[in-house]
Amino acid sequence: MTGKELFIMKNKILLAIADGLGDRPCPSLDGKTPLQYANTPHLDRLAEKGSCGIVDLYRAGVPVGTDFGHMILLGGYDLKDYPGRGPIEAFGEGVELLPGDVALRCNFASVDGDFLVKDRRAGRIREGTGELARALNGLEIDGVQILFKEATEHRAVLVLRGEGLSDRISDTDPKVEDHRINFARALDGSKEAAFTAEVLNQFLIRAHEILGGHALNQKRLAAGQLAANAILTRGAGKMPAIQKVTEALHYTAACVAAESTVLGVARLAGFDVMTDSSFTGNLDTDVEKKAGMAVGALKDHDFVALHYKATDLMGHDNRPSGKVQAIEKYDHMLACVEQLIAAREDLGNVIIALAADHSTPCERREHSGDPVPVVISGVNIRRDAVLKYDEISCAAGALCRMKGADFQATLLDYLEVSPKQGN
Ligand SMILES: [Zn+2]
Repeated sequence: MTGKELFIMKNKILLAIADGLGDRPCPSLDGKTPLQYANTPHLDRLAEKGSCGIVDLYRAGVPVGTDFGHMILLGGYDLKDYPGRGPIEAFGEGVELLPGDVALRCNFASVDGDFLVKDRRAGRIREGTGELARALNGLEIDGVQILFKEATEHRAVLVLRGEGLSDRISDTDPKVEDHRINFARALDGSKEAAFTAEVLNQFLIRAHEILGGHALNQKRLAAGQLAANAILTRGAGKMPAIQKVTEALHYTAACVAAESTVLGVARLAGFDVMTDSSFTGNLDTDVEKKAGMAVGALKDHDFVALHYKATDLMGHDNRPSGKVQAIEKYDHMLACVEQLIAAREDLGNVIIALAADHSTPCERREHSGDPVPVVISGVNIRRDAVLKYDEISCAAGALCRMKGADFQATLLDYLEVSPKQGN
């Protein structure tokens, strides 16, 4: 045996995720899918140098949301682990939830003295919400701790932390103006739901008192602006007892993305999150900077996920040619990734994988259950006969058709972190 054969480099994984990438034949693209139609030399070369397949994220024919799709790709989680939007948004804003916490998405709003909603977004308030949130954060009601954090513009997240809480409570956001706040009700007969609704309603009343008297709101009123003097809530979700995958399997991971939903899921899975104001989630996002940040993160992480959003937006807007353009930009991002990795000798053996969190066919303008094309590419990956990265070519590859959690497990096995079964 030669020394060369004995030398084994540690594998690292860079997983690129093009949101909503999968599609169906488009008449305006000569009956091809946007991925078949687009000019993608770098994606094709990755397909050529590895194993290809198609993936049903959860189950064949079942569409998934971006949140659950990423829970599967990043953490191999199951539907029973899905915590709902409230907790994912809370993680997205950097609030680390504990099992049993109930999280809700919120708006700052303007109400009159009778809780009649005058503006659901408090005049689209942009500044000062951090100050207002700090006035509410840390309150305690009937032994329940209140965590409150501002998010983008008029949005915020609320976390109730304590014993005996339930997420089976109604939304308090009336969804229309000139209606009173719908004070929370229990959605089942449990005492936990009744208790949680009561705590939340007490909080809404306290929040109205505190915000109404806040100096920032006095200033807003004096300047002819609406006061952000109330909180509307929706999407209560209880944090299930799930483990961070990186802690469960002892590896390090990072996620580079713009979208708070994706960043939230990444945090929930135990990933470090990295973002930048130049990442817009649209066609004008800075893909070179994104690629640089992802490759940089490989230095200190075993697994790096690099998320790209524009493909999904074009599907939702039914713009096949826009999706082609978004895919060609994604191809350029992967070219940057490959170049940057090639220039580094300190990263070990980097395996590049390609995936998507679901299909968003232009004709449907929504997520569908169509499987997505995937690739695992690298010098130590079995090469199949596939030469092109698209929905049809990849279906003939060595990975065949697999579920999302199996794809995630397959990737993790290259990190050698999954325990051997049997002896
Ligand atoms: Zn998505």
